[in-house]
Amino acid sequence: MRPEALNCLFVETDSLDGVGPKLKRPLEKLGLTRLRDLVYHLPDRFVERRAVTHLDKANVGENVIVQLTVREHRASSGRGPFRVVTEDALGNICTITYFGRASYTAKKQLPVGETRWVAGRLDQYGQMLQMVHPEHVSEDSAAPVGQLCEAVYPLSEGLTQGRVGGLVQQALKVLPELAEWIEPSLYDKMKWPAWREAVMEAHRGVNGPARDRLAYDELLANALALMLVRESNRRQSGTPLKGDGALRAKLKLPFALTGAQKRSIDEIEGDVAQQAPMLRLLQGDVGAGKTVVALNAMLIAVEAGAQAALLAPTEILARQHYETLARMLQGTGVEIALLTGRDKGKAREAILMGLVGGSIDIVVGTHAIFQDTVSYRNLALVVIDEQHRFGVGQRLMLARKGRRTPHTLAMTATPIPRTLTLAQYGEMEVSKLDELPPGRQAIDTRVVSVERMGDVVGAIARHIETGQQAYWVCPMVSESENDDLAAAEARYAALKERFGEDVVLVHGQLKPEAKDAGMERFASGEASVLVATTVIEVGVDVPNATLMVIEQAERFGLAQLHQLRGRVGRGSEKSTCLLLRGQQLSETARQRLALMRETQDGFRLAEEDLQLRGGGELLGTRQSGDTPFRIASLEQITKLLPLAHDDARLLIERDGGLTGPRGEAARLLLYLFERDWGVQLLRGG
Ligand code: ADP
Ligand code: MG
Repeated sequence: MRPEALNCLFVETDSLDGVGPKLKRPLEKLGLTRLRDLVYHLPDRFVERRAVTHLDKANVGENVIVQLTVREHRASSGRGPFRVVTEDALGNICTITYFGRASYTAKKQLPVGETRWVAGRLDQYGQMLQMVHPEHVSEDSAAPVGQLCEAVYPLSEGLTQGRVGGLVQQALKVLPELAEWIEPSLYDKMKWPAWREAVMEAHRGVNGPARDRLAYDELLANALALMLVRESNRRQSGTPLKGDGALRAKLKLPFALTGAQKRSIDEIEGDVAQQAPMLRLLQGDVGAGKTVVALNAMLIAVEAGAQAALLAPTEILARQHYETLARMLQGTGVEIALLTGRDKGKAREAILMGLVGGSIDIVVGTHAIFQDTVSYRNLALVVIDEQHRFGVGQRLMLARKGRRTPHTLAMTATPIPRTLTLAQYGEMEVSKLDELPPGRQAIDTRVVSVERMGDVVGAIARHIETGQQAYWVCPMVSESENDDLAAAEARYAALKERFGEDVVLVHGQLKPEAKDAGMERFASGEASVLVATTVIEVGVDVPNATLMVIEQAERFGLAQLHQLRGRVGRGSEKSTCLLLRGQQLSETARQRLALMRETQDGFRLAEEDLQLRGGGELLGTRQSGDTPFRIASLEQITKLLPLAHDDARLLIERDGGLTGPRGEAARLLLYLFERDWGVQLLRGG
């Protein structure tokens, strides 16, 4: 049960003034459903403004607050902007420009003949001074002058800064005082503010310590939850699995295992022979051959008379795994089944019967395989694939079916730096596939300016003429998914004009069935070019696809680029990856693209990316998807995670876990960051 002190923070946003069904949706898109989320919706940056008496004192490009008198309104014909001509105290003319359907607001806020305080960015348009969509217009000076330093929040479509800022302010009104969960000596040493104060300051622009503290809280919550998983796991009893090797001997693989694969299988075999459930992470770059390691692990379970399950993050991936594994298992007599949320009726019933009766040895599926209605006769091993977005803990919870805790093998292709491995997986044992199967060809990676788009399309034409296929990854245009979709659709339309029905479009907003159908057309070779948003990031294996184009490559994180690039270079043909870059590149962006060209070693890319970003380049929210954290930046993770880790360990090993006053406070923290599965594990014993 959530501690009472937090209840006020977990109230839905529609309890706030002005939030109805219409505003709720765009808020939800930003992940803002409860007051807690608003409280932790921290500004991207702050605008500093200067109040000036007249425009001679202001610079072009500067954010100012100034008193202006309205001379006239000028509507333009058609879709042109609406202009309000104003002058300052000295008679300097400044045009205030509104695009779109904002003229109604403009007329209301700036009537002819009236004087108003206006806050916005001063620009030059030809010879004229102008302000486009000023941020504040007010009759009296108090309101805009109160905004000399204003937070700029991440937005989604349908939201304005004013709206989001106002809601955050409302949410901050209910902030409770919470008991301190940070270790007292660390708290003193860091001179951090208390939680409530830290939140207020982070929204007010007093950054440094306040934001560090909030980041630390997030890291501590995660470390603590993972530590609780580990502790609880130690106390669980699993099924020791000893396979006789009979099934593994029957596997007819067209290749010999690499040294790294053999070593990983040995490590797994050692773990599952123990009574304590295995908690192991198999880390291996894209194409390193994790599937066959997972298969061997699952066969150990089957040889020992038990069942195994493989959990994939998407339907497409589940299907692909199922097909690969079923092929490898031919002639072994092992029964394998696929179960996804889409299976209904008789087919589903049959699989459920097979699982509970034990006639199915291995099941592959999405999270549907862990629903309450699914029971197993003897599930002893769970493999979790592509566990890269979120902490592993929650998935581990899912895996707890029946009296005995299954052994768990988590697999990830995301080469994450060591610090982040700790953050994401806590103290799991790690097996590393640090050796690619022999015969892989390097992917020829080139950085190409977007100005050469025509050449790139020509290259695609020549490429598909040879019977090979190509991926085209669309740019991330903005923070808004809709804009990304629009860009993808525009690219799709353009390529379709050239290549006709050979092109297929797949994006995140398609229904799963439509997405699969599109992927299927490409995988079967019916379509030659797959235009996609980043949905192809996880999974898919089409060896005949040997060319990849990534638009606006500089906007992607290195880890993401690496994952994307890993979709090619899977067959025997030589593969190429074209990274299209914009005309203007920051120095860091240039270095990162150069690094992509230089190396294909995911671990090296991950480490260097961290270094480059540690240099202080502002992270877009997109890239924060590389870590499981919303508040802590990579820099803060590097700096604070080891401390959080030690703090968590002390609390559990020395200070009695979640009992006692600090333990109670830590419990608050876990709920606040929704790592309460950690608490539940404790209760489960
Ligand atoms: P990932 O680690 O990305 O999941 P996969 O398991 O899909 O990689 O393997 C990638 C490809 O490499 C597959 O086609 C697989 O059959 C092949 N492969 C795996 N192990 C070896 C090996 N030891 N020698 C040659 N090819 C291998
Ligand atoms: Mg894989």
